[in-house]
Amino acid sequence: MPLDQNKTQKSTPPARRPHLGWLYIIFFGTFVWLWLFNRQPAIPEISWNEFEQELLVKGQVERLDVINNQRVEVYLKMPEEESAEEDTQSLFESQPASSGPHYFFNIGSVEVFHDQLENASETAGLQQVNVTYSTQENWGWEIFSWLLPLALIILFWLFLIRRMSSRMSGDSSMLKFGQTKARVLEQGEQSQVTFKDVAGLEEAKEEIFELVNFLKAPDKYQKLGAKIPKGILLLGPPGTGKTLLAKAVAGEAGVPFFSLSGSEFIEMFVGVGAARVRDLFKKAKAQTPSIIFIDEIDTIGRARSGTSVFHESDERDSTLNQLLAELDGFGTNTGVIVLAATNRGDILDPALLRPGRFDRHIQLELPNQTERKAIFEVHMKPLALDADVDVGMLAAQTPGFSGADIANICNEAALIAAHRQKELIQKQDFLDAIDRVIGGMEKRSKIISPEEKKRIAFHEAGHVTTSWFLKHAQPVHKVSIIPRGKSLGSAWYLPEEHQIVTKSEFFDALCTALGGRAAEEIFFEEISSNAVDDLEKATKQAYSMVMNYGLSDVLRNLSFYDSTGKLRQSLHKPYSEKTAEKIDEEVQAIIDKAFATSKEILTTHRERVENLAARLMEKETLQKEEIKEILGERVTA
Ligand code: ADP
Repeated sequence: MPLDQNKTQKSTPPARRPHLGWLYIIFFGTFVWLWLFNRQPAIPEISWNEFEQELLVKGQVERLDVINNQRVEVYLKMPEEESAEEDTQSLFESQPASSGPHYFFNIGSVEVFHDQLENASETAGLQQVNVTYSTQENWGWEIFSWLLPLALIILFWLFLIRRMSSRMSGDSSMLKFGQTKARVLEQGEQSQVTFKDVAGLEEAKEEIFELVNFLKAPDKYQKLGAKIPKGILLLGPPGTGKTLLAKAVAGEAGVPFFSLSGSEFIEMFVGVGAARVRDLFKKAKAQTPSIIFIDEIDTIGRARSGTSVFHESDERDSTLNQLLAELDGFGTNTGVIVLAATNRGDILDPALLRPGRFDRHIQLELPNQTERKAIFEVHMKPLALDADVDVGMLAAQTPGFSGADIANICNEAALIAAHRQKELIQKQDFLDAIDRVIGGMEKRSKIISPEEKKRIAFHEAGHVTTSWFLKHAQPVHKVSIIPRGKSLGSAWYLPEEHQIVTKSEFFDALCTALGGRAAEEIFFEEISSNAVDDLEKATKQAYSMVMNYGLSDVLRNLSFYDSTGKLRQSLHKPYSEKTAEKIDEEVQAIIDKAFATSKEILTTHRERVENLAARLMEKETLQKEEIKEILGERVTA
């Protein structure tokens, strides 16, 4: 997808930046001036010994000047005063021409220097040389040492300002935190996706179509005084085609499309999210009519926490507040439409759903059989299919699958067929792809001992037999003890498609889930860790029966389900400790009852379970017909 984030900015002249050139000149000019001004006169340095032997003893020294108690400058006698000592052979042959100082040497301490000088003069029988003391302020360097850090700070500050201003003009890659990362589809660069690629979802498409028409001809609507919704929220489980639908809108309407995910607003730094929201809306408004699509809006749009102690929520809250402000800030007919998608509609902040913000909600559901068939057809178009592939049968075999799962199955089937060196993709490849998508890859290489294999076979036979003799359990259509993904064995059920689950169906599902553990208890001396997934599923289900659906006998018609998601964030429970105990007891009672039912079924049909397990150990995978051969006709409601 071609990206062009800065098109609008590039057309505007870049912002004026503070020029740093003059500052550099002043800075280095001062440096050079101070250096020149404070330069010590270039006179040769000598050692104490040289001074004593060559100058002092020979009586050439006029006076000494001790500067800052550190440096001794030597002034020599001028030539005319020295004329008496013509035979002087000295290291320092040349006669001093100027008034001095002529040499210097450094001393450690004034006292020591004084003693040394006194001793040397005495030894040589000379008069004490004249010594003066003076202090020289090296004020230039003092000032400089103050100035340097200050100048560096100013320089750094100016550097930052420069960077910031270049960020505003959009030509720097640094400090772009506040800029949106939206991917933009410009006008003309049509999205490849159209409504034809979206199978099913008829109602959603109809609603969205209205939007596309508005974007294509806004005048028609505006003339009549019609107001188009500002925000449309696509709600639905993952993979049901929310993003696909949004892309199709972009493809059909032919307007700039800004797309980004909710998580892209949030960074480590507080305030960045809000800045990005501002930036996104600014860009979208500059190119009206346009569409903004925010995927996973729940990342920023979840109910504000209020009393949260976690810092992270501050950033999210400020981002959400900015989003709300932006939604309120533009008029209904400005031509920017915000689409958002989430699979957690229940936890969104109510403020986001108020009229005038995301006032239109489109609920996407998992596809039904007819829709699944249509989705299979869309994704089978590019595939080379064998004549034995029956789309209707595949749609029937995949209840509860989302559009994304079906797209995945089609791709997996093609991969499996290619792996098997086939020219065309066959029905079996699709069936294997379905199994793989449900349970993961077969792992035949997993090392399983004969004793373990026996246990797994009985475990699976337990599930299958329990469900077989319960009226409201989902019908099983296949069972296998080949390890797949994380599980060691699996049974495939074909759930009937309905929206409501009755209490009996809940209970029979619990019995089926516990059937594996029940079989182990009956047929083996000890139970094992093999039932962990089943127990997890059963426990969760029992708790939701009691706490959410009000399906228990003790806590009748009560639901602690929290559709706002606020309770989950606070640490408060909406019930008392006493009720909590009751919930736990009731859950245990339900599980015990289901387990007892399962055990009873398995004990009654003990022989059939043994036969089924034996056949499983022999063949590893059994289809519905083979199961029926062993267990007999299934009990139906
Ligand atoms: P969501 O955003 O709801 O999680 P997506 O829109 O990203 O799901 O769907 C993922 C993929 O699933 C799409 O790219 C598409 O291939 C496939 N898909 C989902 N729903 C449909 C549909 N109704 N028709 C065709 N393909 C679909």
